[in-house]
Amino acid sequence: MSEIDCQETKRHVHEFLHNELNETEIVEITAHLANCDSCETDYDMENLINGSIKEACDEVPPQELAERVLAEIRRIQVNGGQH
Ligand SMILES: [Zn+2]
Repeated sequence: MSEIDCQETKRHVHEFLHNELNETEIVEITAHLANCDSCETDYDMENLINGSIKEACDEVPPQELAERVLAEIRRIQVNGGQH
């Protein structure tokens, strides 16, 4: 499983929020966000800015998918922590 680093993640955050990534990329980036406070802050910031810009847009936001994946990853981490 190829892991992406912070640089890569931050480079993709914008595309991520603009729904320009495929599902695999979204999952990879979300997985990184779940483990990286720095990138998560970055994502939150972009998300905030993005949200205020595209208020009128009627597309399904990728954040919905991201949040589902994030919740899933956190659940796995909590359960997996005890081996
Ligand atoms: Zn990171």
